[in-house]
Amino acid sequence: MSPNPDPKSSDSALNRRSFLARSAAIAAVPAVATLAGGALAEPASADTLPDYAPIPPSALGPAVNAQGYFVGRVEKNLYWVTDGAYQAAFLTTRDGVVLFDAPPSIGHNLQRAIDQIAAENGVSNKVTHLVYSHHHADHIGGSSLFGTDVVRIGQVQAKQLLASENDPARPVPDVTFETKHTLNVGGERVNLAWHGTNHTPDNSYIHFPDHDTLMLVDIFLPRWVPFDSFNLNEDVPGSIAAPDTAMAYPWKHFIGGHMGRLGTRADMVLYQQYVNDIIDGVKKALGTVDPTPFFAKYGNNVWAAAQQYLAAVVAYASGPVIKKYLGVLAAADVYTASTTFAILESIRLDLGFGSQVHP
Ligand SMILES: [Zn+2]
Repeated sequence: MSPNPDPKSSDSALNRRSFLARSAAIAAVPAVATLAGGALAEPASADTLPDYAPIPPSALGPAVNAQGYFVGRVEKNLYWVTDGAYQAAFLTTRDGVVLFDAPPSIGHNLQRAIDQIAAENGVSNKVTHLVYSHHHADHIGGSSLFGTDVVRIGQVQAKQLLASENDPARPVPDVTFETKHTLNVGGERVNLAWHGTNHTPDNSYIHFPDHDTLMLVDIFLPRWVPFDSFNLNEDVPGSIAAPDTAMAYPWKHFIGGHMGRLGTRADMVLYQQYVNDIIDGVKKALGTVDPTPFFAKYGNNVWAAAQQYLAAVVAYASGPVIKKYLGVLAAADVYTASTTFAILESIRLDLGFGSQVHP
């Protein structure tokens, strides 16, 4: 239905728009490359950037449209929207639309997706409620697009965090809950719950009991390894435990907030196995890699010794995991090492594993 008669040029325009949307999404996350230690002092050149393994087709979702989004049915009147990097969801009801998250990378395409579905089904396209999964700007930074005439709902700590962050793009929730809240709108029900800190202190479980669906953002990204350093999770043990809590709910469809596809229970089991393999690798590495040569080499430069020793532990622990999951989980070769470092530090510091008291 493209007005452009030349499909090739329409394809390339689409690819470019989709590329730009992804670039914008990527720009919304911290500049990870700075961790590489000045590697970006020189302007990047595509010729010298490293190569990574191809993304397994199973990790990719449906193609986005000319506007740069895909909207699809999850089950019945529950829908999801993605730009390939971020996800939101919405429920159409007889009294209006309930939106779950508003990633700025999807931005105005959220209302376009809602308009499209509402028109197809002859229902209201008016967003009346907006539920926040958690306070992070990359997931709710499009909130203010929906104006002041919307009821915003979030966990009580989301309200506290947003009040202190004072970002006009993310108005504080009008309705808050501490541990549980059932949202009833237009004959539909959604159960919101807080089960302790994980990715952030306010991250909430959004369960759709009548749609066989769970939404839990920034914990498990179906068929992809976590984003840098274990999704930048603030509470690593809480984040490792979260999938068990998620699995205790009845659901068939999972909305993880990221990338281009939904998840299944089998996907979540696979992800749990990946994390368990990293934990096993770290424990083995801590018992195997000898720190002595690192401290002998660097003397009073304790940080150099620590950096090189921990890098050796990460390499020992993550190497077999990367090999096992290449072709299974997307970007296993990109982020497994940084996630292994985050889990290693949690195992040492939160669990006290390998901690020794001076004799
Ligand atoms: Zn987040």
